[in-house]
This record gives sequence, C-alpha cells and structure tokens, in this order.
Amino acid sequence: MKIIVIFGAPGAGKGTQAKKIAEKFNFTHISTGDMLRNEVANKTELGLKAKKYMNKGELVPDNVIIAMVEKTISELKNSQGIIFDGFPRTLTQAQNLDSMLNNNKLKISNVLYLDVPENTLINRLKKRAEIENRKDDAQISVVENRIKVYNKKTAPIIEYYNKNNKVTKINGVGEINSIFDRISNKINFEN
Ligand code: AMP
Repeated sequence: MKIIVIFGAPGAGKGTQAKKIAEKFNFTHISTGDMLRNEVANKTELGLKAKKYMNKGELVPDNVIIAMVEKTISELKNSQGIIFDGFPRTLTQAQNLDSMLNNNKLKISNVLYLDVPENTLINRLKKRAEIENRKDDAQISVVENRIKVYNKKTAPIIEYYNKNNKVTKINGVGEINSIFDRISNKINFEN
C-alpha cells in the first residue's frame, strides 16, 4: 500500500490535488482539516475544542490530532493507498505518524511538497474565502497567522523527511490540471 503525504503552506493546493490523486488512483484521502471542520459542523466535543484554535489560525493540539488520525487508520478498510493532507503539521505528528505506520508494517513512500510563493498563497486564500465560506480564510490577520505558524512549526518537518530522501518538490503555481500532470510525472502511485 502506497502512503503519500502532501505537504505545503495553507493555500498551496494540497486539498485540491489530494482529491484528484485519491479519485484517480483509488486512494483514501485523509484530511485532518476536513475531519475537524466536520466535527465543528456537528458540534461534537472535539469540534468545540478545535474551533477555538482553527478560528485563530493556530494548530489544534498534537494529542487531539494524533488520536483522531490513529482512530481513522484503525478503521481503514483495505485501500490502494492513503494520501495524508494537512497532516503531519509538527515534528511530533511526523514522528507519531511513522510509529503508527510502523505498527501496521507500513511506511511513507513519498512526501509531495507543493511549492508556492507567499503572495500567491495569500491571493488564493482570499479567493477561497469567497467560494468556500471558510471562516479562517476570511480574515487577513488569521490567514497571515496560519502562514506564520506554517513557517515556524510545519515547514521544518521537511528536514525530517529530507533525511530519508522522501521529498519530491513540485512547482505548485499554474493551472490545477498542469500541476496534477507535474505530480503524476514525478510520482508513481501504482504498485
Ligand atoms: P486545513 O484545512 O488543513 O488548512 O486545516 C484547517 C485548520 O485545522 C488549521 O488551520 C488548524 O487549525 C487545524 N488543523 C488541521 N490539520 C491539523 C493538524 N495536522 N495539526 C493541527 N491542527 C490542524
């Protein structure tokens, strides 16, 4: 089973590309952001807790996220592969993901890093605020905080994955389908 992590800043296009990969190659798409928004919409205890962090553009605590992902993995039916989107976001999450996978005799095949300059990210998030009605996209101060948090806590994980030569950097600027072609040309999602 192929395990892919799609990595990049908020607005890099992780969700869009992860959905396309999951559809084409029959992968399970695990998006912690989507899972959390679902919890918020259903007003669950986890959702109420997470909402406070999400609305400020802060990360939801590691223990909450790790427990959520662990549960999802344990309930997974057989699948061609998994694409993780928006997870891991901290070094602790990355280390925990490795041990979760290890316990299931699995390992990450590729970390797909979507590279997008900061001004493009901000423009995309502004547009998404109008289309998807996401609260954390609507306020420029929250958008800026998410990018700041990404640079401080998430971007350094690349070093962790670079050590194992797992990172494939893809230019994330351009048309959705051209970016998808770039990804498909660089990464083998089959076998
Ligand atoms: P996303 O849709 O991936 O941009 O996530 C939206 C928000 O959910 C983030 O700004 C965080 O507040 C929270 N979130 C999603 N995934 C994680 C994660 N792996 N660790 C911590 N917080 C997360």
